[in-house]
Order: sequence, then structure tokens, then C-alpha cells
Amino acid sequence: MDQLRKCLKESNNVKIKTYYITLIVAWFSTLLSMVADYLQGFSARVLILLAVGMVIMLLLMIFSLKYHIENIGSHILVYLFNVVLFPELFLQSGGVSSGMVLIFIVSLAVTAVLLEGKFRVIAYLISIVMMEYTIIYSYRAQDKITLLSYKDSVVDYVITLLVVSVTVVCIMTAILRAYDEEKEKTDELNKRLTELSVKDELSGLYNRRELFRRLDVIYDCAVGSKVPSSRQDCYIAMFDIDNFKSINDTYGHQFGDEVLSTIAHVLMEHAPEKEGELAARYGGEEFVNIIRAKDQEHALERVEEIRKEIEDLKWEEVPDLTVTISGGLASCEKYEELRMAMHDVDALLYKAKHEGKNRIQA
Ligand code: GH3
Ligand code: MG
Ligand code: MG
Repeated sequence: MDQLRKCLKESNNVKIKTYYITLIVAWFSTLLSMVADYLQGFSARVLILLAVGMVIMLLLMIFSLKYHIENIGSHILVYLFNVVLFPELFLQSGGVSSGMVLIFIVSLAVTAVLLEGKFRVIAYLISIVMMEYTIIYSYRAQDKITLLSYKDSVVDYVITLLVVSVTVVCIMTAILRAYDEEKEKTDELNKRLTELSVKDELSGLYNRRELFRRLDVIYDCAVGSKVPSSRQDCYIAMFDIDNFKSINDTYGHQFGDEVLSTIAHVLMEHAPEKEGELAARYGGEEFVNIIRAKDQEHALERVEEIRKEIEDLKWEEVPDLTVTISGGLASCEKYEELRMAMHDVDALLYKAKHEGKNRIQA
């Protein structure tokens, strides 16, 4: 029982869940039919056939849980029931005067859910042919069939429809729930994959690929676009941590990583995405921010703010340490090509380093 619960809860395969759900619901439905048939006074043969069905389902459940033969189990379930058990039950319980045809239809629907691909089509065709043949045969062998009286027939239809409806609702609800759970998991996984493909793991910032994708959009927008160029208010700021190698060498690589992610966090805070801004890790200890500002003066103010905030950071492990950054700032509007803008902003950063570090060059 525990194994079955575990399988229903933890299995990642919706098909396997569907198989067990079908077995459980079908087993209880058969039990219900057996009680109903007994009360209606059906022959012992009908009750034995139903009991055989229940034993087969129980065995399938046990063997499937033990040897993981759910796939073979699905085939056995479909063929044994559609081709042997249900047609025989149909003939034994009064042919068309009983509600067995309703069970035929549900069984075909379950076949569609349990099997896949060409196996589904083959099983479907064989089951339909067998069921149709059984109905026609019941006409040709009328002497062997005991038709129910009109009253018994109505009673049987009322009960069978009830059992069938409960079965369909239970199976469908359980399967839909299993699919919903599966979809939730897939959505979560897709979200994580998308995040992994656009973000840098250590810093949590966007990666270089995503930075260029966004910059390309900004540049492409300008060519023949009806929307006013978004390059107009766009600035590229490139930063590099000063003397980072010596921080690593003095305090260790792990502390270096911490410095890197703390600085990344400051850069992220200064790049609100809803304003069309973005902070990215450009290389090892180099970062690029896309900044929106109405003119160069305002853009420089924003970048200076970042520089000062990083300079003022306090480091718990090394209270005396001051970490600084240098940066270059370029306006996208000034450059027709992104390549040129990136080249110049890199040169400006180099100049800031050359002129003493801890400064922004625009
Ligand atoms: P400058 O002021 O001229 O930029 O000097 P610098 O020491 O910062 O620059 P340099 O290019 O000599 O060294 C950069 C160092 O950054 C070297 C590399 O080991 C380190 N680094 C790059 N990526 C990482 C990282 O992910 N974690 C850590 N801890 N260090 C990194
Ligand atoms: Mg550096
Ligand atoms: Mg560097």
C-alpha cells in the first residue's frame, strides 16, 4: 500500500500514474458492479467473471509495483478486458438488454489514455472490432442469451450508468490532477532553465549573451523603426573592480567571490528592469550596466552614485578594506554601431584605470 502511495505521489511519469489510477478505480467499480449484480440476481457465471477481473487487476497491481511492468500491464489490462472479459460479460449478463454497452464505451476511452502511438491504434481497432462482433454475435446466437425483462433492463441501465459515471469522473479527475502536477513541474523547470541560460550563477546578474541580446534589440530598434529610437536615452557603463587580483591574493578566492557578488548586488539595485535597464557580468570582474538617462550629465550622476556606494561598502571580515571600481560611460546615441560603442566604452574604462582608478571616465 505504501509502495502504491509512493508511486502515485513521486512518479514523474504521468502514464504510470494513470495506469495505477485506472487499476484502483476499475477495481472498486468492478466490486460495486459485483454487489449490484448479486442484488439484481445475475447468474453465478457473471459474478465469477467479475471476480476473475478483480483478481487479474490485483495481480497486475502487485506485479507492476514489484517488477515495474506498468507498460506490459497496460497492454494486458486493455486486451484482457476489451477482448475477453467484457465481451464474455456482455453475453452472460443479457446482451443489449444489459448496460454492458456503456462499459464498452468507457473501456475504449480508458484504452486511449493507457496506451500510446501505434499500440493505441492497434488496441483500439481490435477492441472495437471485438465489441462490435460480440454485439452482432449476440443477435445470431439469441438462443444462448438470456435477455433481461424490460424492468430488469432499466434497473441494470440505471445502476451501470451510475457505476460508469463515478468511474469516469474518478479516473478523469485523478488523471487531470496528475497532468496539472506534471505541468507545474515542467513550468518550474522551464523557468529555471530560462534563468540559467540568461543569468550568471555567481553574481545573479545577466550574462554576457543576454547583455548583447538586449543591446542588439536597442540598436535594431533604431533602424527603420516607427518607435522613436530607444538609443536616445540609453547609456552603456562598463565597470571593473580595482586591484581585484590583490584582494584575491590577500584574502582568498572565497572572499573575492563575496566581494564580486556584493558589488553585483549594488549594480543590480541600480538597474531597475521596468525602466529598461539591466546589469550584466561582462567578464571575470567586469560588469556592464545599461542605463537610461535623459542626458550624459544625468547618466554620469547615476554612475558616480554607484561608484561611491561601492567605495562606501563595509566588509565584515576585513573592516579596514575599501573596494573601489573604475568605469567608462558611453552614450548609445553617439554610435551607429554597437561594436563601436563597446570599443569606446572599453577604452574609457582603460583610461579611468590609467588615470588612477576609482573614477568614471565619460
Ligand atoms: P585592475 O585594477 O587593473 O583591474 O587590476 P585587477 O587586479 O583587478 O585586474 P587583473 O585583470 O589583473 O585581475 C583580475 C582578477 O580577477 C584575476 C582573476 O583571478 C580574478 N577573478 C576573475 N573572476 C573571478 C571570480 O569569479 N572570482 C574570484 N574570486 N576572482 C575572479
Ligand atoms: Mg580589475
Ligand atoms: Mg579586469
